[in-house]
Amino acid sequence: MTAYTAEWVLPMTGSAPIHRGFISIEHERITAVGDGRSDGARDLGSVALMPALVNAHTHLELSYLRGQVPPAHRFLDWIRTIMETRRRYPDPADARILDAARDAIAEAHATGTGLIGDISNTLVTPPLLREASMPGQVFFELLRFNAEDAQPIIREARAKVDAAAADNSQVRVSLAPHAPYSVSPALFAAVRADLDAHPGTVTSVHLSESPEELEFIKHGTGPWRVLLEELGAWTDAWQPPPEVSPVGYLEEIGFLDRRVIAVHGVQFDGDDLDRLRSRGMTIVSCPRSNQHVGVGAPPLEAFYAMNVSVAFGTDSLASVPDLNLFAEIAEARRLAPRVSARAILESATRCGAVALGFGEDYGTIEPGKRAAVIAVRVPANVADVEEYLLSGIAASDITWVS
Ligand SMILES: [Zn+2]
Repeated sequence: MTAYTAEWVLPMTGSAPIHRGFISIEHERITAVGDGRSDGARDLGSVALMPALVNAHTHLELSYLRGQVPPAHRFLDWIRTIMETRRRYPDPADARILDAARDAIAEAHATGTGLIGDISNTLVTPPLLREASMPGQVFFELLRFNAEDAQPIIREARAKVDAAAADNSQVRVSLAPHAPYSVSPALFAAVRADLDAHPGTVTSVHLSESPEELEFIKHGTGPWRVLLEELGAWTDAWQPPPEVSPVGYLEEIGFLDRRVIAVHGVQFDGDDLDRLRSRGMTIVSCPRSNQHVGVGAPPLEAFYAMNVSVAFGTDSLASVPDLNLFAEIAEARRLAPRVSARAILESATRCGAVALGFGEDYGTIEPGKRAAVIAVRVPANVADVEEYLLSGIAASDITWVS
């Protein structure tokens, strides 16, 4: 058994930080946490011990696009640039793609992230996560707006997911539809059936990200319609439901469920938030990315005021400068000054772990949990350690304990 004492311990179980506390670890599991000293404990000094952060939404396979997709004023401009840039790298196993993803995982680890929710179109990332011993939930993303018969697509995708899942429970793989404007109702229904056939799995959908998405789902018009037609992906078989939001649309086609993670939600209104809360769903917010791609800032204070579960993700390096989740929650704090620091920190740890289906092992410091614990250096004169942790923490201030 190894024990550590520290100036601060943040269990993230809803209670206040412990001033001068300890944790004990045995066989890579936490066995005890409390205040005071523990015999034979190693004193880590002026640090905050806390659970490793959870980056609940990123696209590691896009890491090679770091710095290549400039900020946009309109979402469609950003999408068009990224589509063009991706065409220059047609081979998913291109060494530049794999090396950039490896570097991104290393950066996430160095900045205190211990669990990742990753979107992948090519499934090159599960082996990279395993190689780095980074636990994760990989979502194999499906896009096909004009798929009327989804069965062949789902059969092929399920076979790939089963092959990629191997037998390593620390890196799980499931299916995920991209977004309401890029996936047919039949394909949504097929993913839902697959989810029901695999209890315990979770899925994810990009939802209510841009004003263009709202216009398309409400009226079937706008820049999305134009892009779908250009790509040959539009179908007259799709009729927009009258005046419903993207959340209302997913409700109508039976896709809303507590195992569905709703990513972004920048355009959510009160009814949308009610629908998500009543189902116990989690919103993953990526505030830096939202502003980079031109869709505006997410209504974070409304998310918390409506008591919806919130987690955070960085999104990909095509829309953020780094995978440091501490930088993401610093931005969240700037956008939501009235939300408690504790609630934001719980979002970045426990809520993310629970949403990804890893709540039994990660997200808090409690006996029985895996010892995925980081120590963040805290200056001696800091009075509010929770607030300090939202001020932007760099890799140089973080050490892994275990
Ligand atoms: Zn995304």
